[in-house]
Amino acid sequence: ESELIARRDKVLGASYRLQYRRPVHFVRGEGMWLYDPDGRAYLDFYNNVPCLGHCHPEVNAAMAEQAGRISANTRYLEPKLVDYAERLVGTFPNELDRVVFTCTGSESNDLALRIARCTSGNEGVIVSTYAYHGTSAATAAVSPNLGHAVKLSPLVRMVSLPGPAGIPEAQAAEFFETQIRSAMMDLSRRGIGVAALLIDSIFSSDGVWLDPPGFIASGVAAVQEAGGLVIADEVQPGFGRTGTHMWGFERHGIVPDLVTLGKPMGNGFPIGAVVGRRAWMDQFGATARYSNTFAGNTVGIATANAVLTILQRDQIPQKALATSRRLRAGLEKLATQRHEIRAIRNAGLFFGVDIGAEGTPAPGRRAMALDLVNAMRDDGLLISTTGANEDTLKVRPPLVCEAEHVDLFLTAMERALINIAR
Ligand code: PMP
Repeated sequence: ESELIARRDKVLGASYRLQYRRPVHFVRGEGMWLYDPDGRAYLDFYNNVPCLGHCHPEVNAAMAEQAGRISANTRYLEPKLVDYAERLVGTFPNELDRVVFTCTGSESNDLALRIARCTSGNEGVIVSTYAYHGTSAATAAVSPNLGHAVKLSPLVRMVSLPGPAGIPEAQAAEFFETQIRSAMMDLSRRGIGVAALLIDSIFSSDGVWLDPPGFIASGVAAVQEAGGLVIADEVQPGFGRTGTHMWGFERHGIVPDLVTLGKPMGNGFPIGAVVGRRAWMDQFGATARYSNTFAGNTVGIATANAVLTILQRDQIPQKALATSRRLRAGLEKLATQRHEIRAIRNAGLFFGVDIGAEGTPAPGRRAMALDLVNAMRDDGLLISTTGANEDTLKVRPPLVCEAEHVDLFLTAMERALINIAR
């Protein structure tokens, strides 16, 4: 194992990080479970890409069937491409009726930024303080989460969120709108107009600050009034993660101009998309060229089509919502027994759990969250951390998580909390 790590470091270098103090190697996945070479099972409460569970047989069959037939690009006539595009757009509010395919979430955001800049004629972009939006040069430049690793563009302004700023829920909307307005004013003082507000409506990398629903609405309206486009990054909240809605922005009662998709769309196959209002999409299409060799290829479309079929047919988001209520109740009960749980936030099966009792300094809270994640890994349970101080547990199992898995998770979490307190 240490030899493999050394070889890995030598050839892959510093860009690659392993998760956990004791890294894991998985050789097989099935539903909620991952297996190491010794056959030890790990319960996955972390991976949101395999939303229907690891290696879903029906999804894999659709992928293999198409791969065995033809893998063709979007320059050829293909009814399945049009069928899927219609089905996908049909899950959005009527205003959002055009779709362009990509291969990753980063590509989706990169393209959305191009569309916003091209159609608004402006350059400025507003994001949240700890946002992450992708790997390309343009998306990394709007990803403060990357810290000192990447220089933010001078065209970017960050807005604080009401939750981490300690603002009461009743004043959250006003606080957010004020932040947005001052960001736009600051841009305009430098002669920069607003092209886009780019936000993940559950603010996953900021530490899961999603309440109260609707708090972003007046800030969103302010951007649209100023001629900027609102881009909802649905890479995390999309495809039913929040349980109550197919798309995270719907939870806030807004209609964005562009929506970017990725991660769960292919249950593991790399496929993403930008869905948007016809006016913007067509204006961009008429003035700029977009051609993407792999995006929308027949194998990706067959896979994504199977994912959407199963998600809808088996009412996966509705079931995930019921499961999320059990998890929420269990965590709340645990919090009454263990003072290390400071706060719990969730929308459907995306949970942020703040670790470290009130009054614990930030480094202590972060160390405790890290100890907890590693203790749970040793116990066969996968989670991670998020937020500016990395002291929020990020818990987002595949959507096919059921009551029995929740109970195993809660028992493991209690055990880990007791262990790290020793
Ligand atoms: N947006 C958000 C909110 C993300 O969480 C991520 C990936 N973690 C991305 C965009 C980028 O997606 P990808 O890694 O597929 O390029």
